[in-house]
Amino acid sequence: MGKVVAIANQKGGVGKTTTSINLAASLAKTRRRVLLIDSDPQGNATMGSGINKEAHPVTTYEILLGAAPLEAALVPVEGGYDLVPANGQLAGAEVELIELDRRERRLRSAIETARAQYDYIFIDCPPALNLLTLNALVAAQSVLIPMQCEYYALEGLTALLNTIRKIRETLNPSLEIEGLLRTMFDPRNNLDNEVSAQLKQHFGDKLYRTIIPRNIRLAEAPSHGKPVIAYDMQSKGAQAYLALAGEMLRREEEVAAA
Ligand code: ATP
Ligand code: MG
Repeated sequence: MGKVVAIANQKGGVGKTTTSINLAASLAKTRRRVLLIDSDPQGNATMGSGINKEAHPVTTYEILLGAAPLEAALVPVEGGYDLVPANGQLAGAEVELIELDRRERRLRSAIETARAQYDYIFIDCPPALNLLTLNALVAAQSVLIPMQCEYYALEGLTALLNTIRKIRETLNPSLEIEGLLRTMFDPRNNLDNEVSAQLKQHFGDKLYRTIIPRNIRLAEAPSHGKPVIAYDMQSKGAQAYLALAGEMLRREEEVAAA
């Protein structure tokens, strides 16, 4: 059964989409079967995967509203994974879902049958703790939290951790924290190092050892519609996301062996 991982942080621009695309592609490279669900009306994961977000009639919107089965939305992409695309239409789902039954469980139900076909299902969340993110957190086994090591990062994290706790108490008792990922890291910046040390203290093993550096190739790759490993394999960004995939797989082997 595939593991469903929500990639979430309500703070904008912290590297959620970059992590979604590049972790999906890095795991696909190790022959894992990977699905990436774009659950952000911005459609950045869709465009960054090389897909025209207006060209596909079946998207995350239709899936959430139950207008089409997940299978009808799957698009194989150059990065080696399957994508469920999204576009601006998804912004409307927020309002339309409110009218529906079990509105927080729509995504969970929609992906249930596909879980057997994948090793990993990633959900790229929007920068908000809204109904789209809630659907992702209810569908997921775990949450991967990308974050920048800046002064207010820990404060923002508290809101997310409280939301995760509430969801555990109600809609999804087995939701775990997959890991915290330091992104856009600059080792020459003292603050980055300070916040990093605090994270280590607070989160211990949940903090990935792999750190994603600030790297221009990671920022350029989406405009070519490619994951960074297909754009510049030798770049620090590509190597970092491959290392993250390796760390994730190793952690799972350790858990399985324990
Ligand atoms: P949003 O909250 O809007 O969905 P996000 O959390 O998904 O944003 P990204 O879109 O992944 O964040 O990244 C924000 C911007 O920073 C993008 O332009 C991206 O290309 C760039 N970026 C992300 N990670 C890195 C990195 N490690 N080095 C350099 N640039 C990066
Ligand atoms: Mg994003």
